[in-house]
Amino acid sequence: MNKILLAVILLFIFPWSNKVDAQELSQKEIYEKRMDLYKKTEAKTDIPWYYLAGIDQFERSIRLVRKDLPKPDRIGGYYIPIEKWVGPGNLNHDDDNPITISFFDGVGRDGNGDGKAERTKEEDLLFTLAQYISKYGVDENKFRIALWDYYKRDLTVNSIMTNVKLYKRFNRIDLDKKMFPIPRGYHYSYKNTWGARRGWGGRRIHEGTDIFAGYGVPVRSIVYGVVELKGWNKFGGWRVGIRDLNNTYHYYAHLNGFSKDLKIGDIVEPGTIIGSVGSSGYGPPGTSGKFPPHLHFGMYKDDGRSVWSFDPYPYLRLWERQERQKDSK
Ligand SMILES: [Zn+2]
Repeated sequence: MNKILLAVILLFIFPWSNKVDAQELSQKEIYEKRMDLYKKTEAKTDIPWYYLAGIDQFERSIRLVRKDLPKPDRIGGYYIPIEKWVGPGNLNHDDDNPITISFFDGVGRDGNGDGKAERTKEEDLLFTLAQYISKYGVDENKFRIALWDYYKRDLTVNSIMTNVKLYKRFNRIDLDKKMFPIPRGYHYSYKNTWGARRGWGGRRIHEGTDIFAGYGVPVRSIVYGVVELKGWNKFGGWRVGIRDLNNTYHYYAHLNGFSKDLKIGDIVEPGTIIGSVGSSGYGPPGTSGKFPPHLHFGMYKDDGRSVWSFDPYPYLRLWERQERQKDSK
């Protein structure tokens, strides 16, 4: 047999590699290494770990959906463009010398103490980020100003503050548990109606999934998140909006009412009851009963520049299945 062909076949059968990267670690190991990185940087710089984690997670989330940014492939998600790291006008794009980098006004700093400011080293990247924050100060208002100056976008500042709030409250970063919005034991049904035409309020396309259930059936938060919206809209009736750590916005509409004490800015967990199923909407505040009771659920993605809706149906099916599997164990 042709030796090259044999080598190719062997490579397919034994795709060994001694390269250790983020993909080969379990999710648990990734979280541990990530937290370690945040805590190390906090110890060196006095910048609270949850500030660093909030930005790092935001950057990771936008890189996953943006075509103009490289996909996250490290433990950290924070990204600095080459020109910014080495300095504008610095022709040496591989420059890792802190002296020449600062001569060219580059932001790159040496965080791990090896004398090099390397854009590919996690510790150097997070240290550089911490240096930027420390120019402003660590109280929350100053941190917000630092974010605004850096990103110049309200929704981005808000999204990062959502991450910070969640990390600070739960004091951990493994917060990706999900739950189906309707608790087990209640009758409900739903189909994929993404993109269907809506009759009321002119020509609109259905941006979500309708989960039909009786009046008063509890509606839960699917994710760890922060309540960003609560109130009336002539289409959605009484509705709640929750943003999660992946910068995904969860929209719950036509509610019969809200949970007592639920307010904008509240932190919710998977399973937190936010309200109940109703048929509110299609008119002025309080209008109800113009259609059968159901939960309208929508998902919106923000990539740091624009927002778009995407089909929640496959995710609902997935969360429903995962919860059933867990319950039957
Ligand atoms: Zn709907």
